[in-house]
Amino acid sequence: MLIEPTAAGLYCAAGRFHIDPWEPVERAVITHAHGDHLRKGSRAYLCADAALRLVQHRLDTSAIVEAVPYGEAASINGVRVSLHPAGHILGSAQVRVEHRGEVWVASGDYKRAPDPTCAPFEPVPCHTFISEATFALPIFKWEPPSATIAEICAWWDEMREAGRPAVLFGYALGKAQRVLAELARCTDRTVFVHGALMDLTDAYRASRIPFPPIARATETARGRSFAGDLIVAPLSARGSTWMRRFGDHSSAFASGWMRIRGARRRRAYDRGFALSDHADWDAIVQTVIDTSAERVFVTHGYTHQLARFLRERGLDAQAWQTQYEGEPEAVE
Ligand SMILES: [Zn+2]
Ligand SMILES: [Zn+2]
Repeated sequence: MLIEPTAAGLYCAAGRFHIDPWEPVERAVITHAHGDHLRKGSRAYLCADAALRLVQHRLDTSAIVEAVPYGEAASINGVRVSLHPAGHILGSAQVRVEHRGEVWVASGDYKRAPDPTCAPFEPVPCHTFISEATFALPIFKWEPPSATIAEICAWWDEMREAGRPAVLFGYALGKAQRVLAELARCTDRTVFVHGALMDLTDAYRASRIPFPPIARATETARGRSFAGDLIVAPLSARGSTWMRRFGDHSSAFASGWMRIRGARRRRAYDRGFALSDHADWDAIVQTVIDTSAERVFVTHGYTHQLARFLRERGLDAQAWQTQYEGEPEAVE
């Protein structure tokens, strides 16, 4: 086994490095900057160039962080390691590991749908593929993102006519910036954001991702009405005093979870938009086919369901126990 699950995380013994470890280790190769994949405390980190700012933002300054361009091979203790676009968030990477003619790829999180904030997913041929399975059930099927963004714009238009603020919740890293970048294509009106999104959004801007004009909601004049404005906020802002300034508003949540459990989840929001940074069922199955892997290990999400499906199709597939969390569900 070139890579195996251990108590600290996925481990490559030949190269003596971990991939997205959840315990502090000597050397960590990182797929992306989400908290469950990038944890503090390791001595040295390797990530993709495009992820460097986000990774540094999350880590203590004492950590050694090295970055490599997509596709460029590095040698770690004689094992060939390269990072390839995963299409999940800015700088997200699949990790390709090659040793003595054997090739493994760890996907991290990935999606196949277009996203203006990151490089598109590239299938990487391998013998063994380690895949996430956050939305690995056939009921998860995404509309093209352009259609979902059009729904968001229509909702904003509706609220403008009604003279109410439209507050859109999404994950602070990745989803919020993706929505903002998509909006840049259809509006030049100012979009208001929660302060917690500013640093992360600036990191994206530094990577030349275009955004519409953005203003921090707290920096507006006291008593300003947000009637007809769109406000993008992280989930943590729900129910906080920060929300009071918007008064009678319409709320929405942008998440893959909005595809199901509609009745239960939507009670907490006026609207739900099924926009996910993870692959849907068809995209996961297609990706496994595209890698031409004969063996698949599944790390988080609907792991057993995906592994069983792949075994029925003649692949050697197994679920692995990991500490990755997948896409958090709505906080109620
Ligand atoms: Zn992620
Ligand atoms: Zn994940």
